[in-house]
Amino acid sequence: MQIRFWGVRGTVACPGPSTVRYGGNTACIEVRCGKRVIIFDAGTGLRPLGIELLKDKRIREVDIFITHCHLDHVAGLPFFEPLFCEDYVVRIWAANLAPSSSIEQVTRRLMSSPLFPVQIEIFKATIEFRDFQSGAVLQPCDGVKLRTAPLDHPDGANGYRLEYGGRIFALVSDTAGFPGNRDADLAWLAHKADLLVYDATFTEEEIVSRSNWGHSTWVRGVRLANESGAKKLCLFHHDPSHDDDFMDAVAAEAARARAGTITAREGQIIDL
Ligand SMILES: [Zn+2]
Ligand SMILES: [Zn+2]
Repeated sequence: MQIRFWGVRGTVACPGPSTVRYGGNTACIEVRCGKRVIIFDAGTGLRPLGIELLKDKRIREVDIFITHCHLDHVAGLPFFEPLFCEDYVVRIWAANLAPSSSIEQVTRRLMSSPLFPVQIEIFKATIEFRDFQSGAVLQPCDGVKLRTAPLDHPDGANGYRLEYGGRIFALVSDTAGFPGNRDADLAWLAHKADLLVYDATFTEEEIVSRSNWGHSTWVRGVRLANESGAKKLCLFHHDPSHDDDFMDAVAAEAARARAGTITAREGQIIDL
């Protein structure tokens, strides 16, 4: 299993001279399971990922799993080049929108006047929209199993635990984290994960005045990783106001608190 980060920011893209080292694109993670491409979230990092995917003619099928539909997690969708290729199959999965809505309806709304100049009919790929409820166990292809659980976030979000080839990748973002009544869900999503990617938007000082924003801290990430026996913790969904120097300080402090902790950078590749 190989993980590559195409966007590590939360909330809004923040490119510029003060964010070049950690990156400015919003949430998008590529996970290779053998030859299969599994994508988590469709933030602005999805655009460069799409361009890269087209260079490999053998890949003609991808699955995109959305944690939730806030803009920082879907804004890249209309700019995903494979959607414009006739011979491509793109499956887009999202939780808890049905029955009152659906991921297709949300995508159509995202690409509608006056928000966007063209509608989804412009896409040439075969698009399969897949709605599910948190708690479902998904099997997008042979050998890849995804377990899912609800996260504590405004409008809701879904956490993923991907199992492939004896390795476990857990994505727990966006979430307020450990406080509240969902400890059990978080703990089993992260249980003995080889890599736990966690919402570390805020510091402990910052979260005091933003406790209901549905985001967490690296301190809570360390606690979850320790209590769930996760092998490696990776901090993710960095706040756009945290520049490279700030992120360096967070990374150093987190690695002191839990040896081996990674602070995700755009372009970073992790082999499991
Ligand atoms: Zn977010
Ligand atoms: Zn959100």
